[in-house]
Amino acid sequence: MSRPTQATINLFSLRKNLQLIRELTAGKKVIGVIKADAYGHGAIPIARVLEEQHIDYLAVACIEEAILLRDAGIKSPILLLEGFFSEDELPLMQLYNLSTVVQQPEQIKALQRWKGKPFDIWLKIDTGMHRIGFLPDETASAYAQLKACAKVNRIVLMTHFSSADEPAQLKTPEQIRIFESLTAGYHEETCLCNSAGIMRWPAAHGDWVRPGLMLYGSSPFTEDHPLDKRLEPVMELTSQIFAIRELPAGVPIGYGETFITDRACRVGVVAAGYADGYPRQAPSGTPVLVNGQRTRILGRTSMDMMTIDLTHLPDAKTGDTVTLWGRGLPATEVAHHAGTISYEMFCNLKRVPIIYTGLHMGEAGKN
Ligand SMILES: *Cc1c(COP(=O)(O)O)cnc(C)c1O
Repeated sequence: MSRPTQATINLFSLRKNLQLIRELTAGKKVIGVIKADAYGHGAIPIARVLEEQHIDYLAVACIEEAILLRDAGIKSPILLLEGFFSEDELPLMQLYNLSTVVQQPEQIKALQRWKGKPFDIWLKIDTGMHRIGFLPDETASAYAQLKACAKVNRIVLMTHFSSADEPAQLKTPEQIRIFESLTAGYHEETCLCNSAGIMRWPAAHGDWVRPGLMLYGSSPFTEDHPLDKRLEPVMELTSQIFAIRELPAGVPIGYGETFITDRACRVGVVAAGYADGYPRQAPSGTPVLVNGQRTRILGRTSMDMMTIDLTHLPDAKTGDTVTLWGRGLPATEVAHHAGTISYEMFCNLKRVPIIYTGLHMGEAGKN
């Protein structure tokens, strides 16, 4: 018997989430964001399914991630979201047929010096995130230089929202307004929305949308959203109870004695911990499912194990399945307890075997 902890990646759910995105955006072109190993879901199998579903574009953070996809046979157009870091990436970008974000003047100069074939580029405009991109008063000059550059094919105008996931705020409409006023005269395609933008700001859908988290069936919002029930979690992290303890009232559980039993407790020990990517910050009370029924963590999560409350689940026994997040327990909810976001929990997944279901396309999805 091996350690019973695994992540199951349901590719049917991935297809459903893509369908939902297409329905919400009614014919807009979709860039599937699969940076950081598809948020821990495995970039190659995820890309294969998106390609089978005729995704318009894929996006990764950097050239290393793009090359892994090309070497695995992925043919879809691929966008480098951070652009190239240095000029010596240009020959590889040509070889691997990649498109790039252009977000600073050095990149324009490199394209002007480039001797190879032209690239499709995505001009990043900083409308208020203030991370990367050209500021509004730099945009006209950047656009003119790129338009005049023989090494630039198509230009798509893009921006990124800083706060589209926050409930009541004026920031996103302000960013949309700045973007629209800057780009109105250019007759180029536009791209603004991440998942939160797609779900909350339909007026900003533009010509292209860039969903990441939504594809994986997780909501970017901390509070409830009407679309929550239509998102299907792609990743399910499960383990099993491998020991059961009957503890008296008044005893501490785990490192640092952060939880003291307030009554006689039946405690299950689960074979998953922070070395698997479960957030160590998740306090006592964070929900888990035992055979689909809710209960809670007791005490601190350790490296390989955690302890959970079975006092009100008398039928729970050794070998029973424990769901740490997935169907019936959104990762966003666990993240909220742990003071993090589902993005980070997915990316932190490690050590556990990843099992793919819903392949059904011959070669597709073998990792
Ligand atoms: C990661 C990323 C996205 C996807 O964001 P989600 O919130 O996961 O939908 C979109 N655009 C850019 C520029 C990104 O870096």
